[in-house]
Amino acid sequence: MALIMKISGEDRQNQKPQFSHFSHRHPLELSQLHQEDNAVCSGCELDILGSAYVCTKPNCTFLLHDLCFDLPRRIRHRAHPKHPLGLSSSPPYDDREFTCDACGHSGHAFTYHCGTCKFDLHVECASLPEVENRRDHEHPLVLLCGSPEGGAAAGVFVCYVCRGLIGKGCWMYACLTCNCGAHLECAGIPLH
Ligand SMILES: [Zn+2]
Ligand SMILES: [Zn+2]
Ligand SMILES: [Zn+2]
Ligand SMILES: [Zn+2]
Ligand SMILES: [Zn+2]
Ligand SMILES: [Zn+2]
Repeated sequence: MALIMKISGEDRQNQKPQFSHFSHRHPLELSQLHQEDNAVCSGCELDILGSAYVCTKPNCTFLLHDLCFDLPRRIRHRAHPKHPLGLSSSPPYDDREFTCDACGHSGHAFTYHCGTCKFDLHVECASLPEVENRRDHEHPLVLLCGSPEGGAAAGVFVCYVCRGLIGKGCWMYACLTCNCGAHLECAGIPLH
């Protein structure tokens, strides 16, 4: 569900349309970013190349991927079936930092947050694909969110990429045929 609201532009010549986003008080406009811009998304904290929503104020460095601009304000995630998760534009904690319940790394920008349980997900961790097909493994890998349910998957997994153990409760991509898995970062998921 897009939260795009066109607030001005279009009819005026030489002026790009401007957009507003709940997470930022200045208007944004669409721009093309290049490698040399070294731009980092203010939502997911990952690099941005290509089209992005950029703040129109000269001294403000706020910018968003178009995907991050369009993130739904509220989601349901199977890793946290009890409550919906709300998109928060900054970590709602005193130290302005959250720890992601998916990857275990910290975050300082957008979080899908449950206030009741203090449960947080990076926006990119919240949208990990359910199934990954990888060139280095013959079977498709499925995303396990937290403790693996049932069957052979109940034990401890060894990461087939780095050979390290995958901790209990960690998210991973697992092959339920071979009973092996891969850490999110070993599966090539861009993390912090
Ligand atoms: Zn982003
Ligand atoms: Zn700004
Ligand atoms: Zn994460
Ligand atoms: Zn909750
Ligand atoms: Zn690994
Ligand atoms: Zn396999």
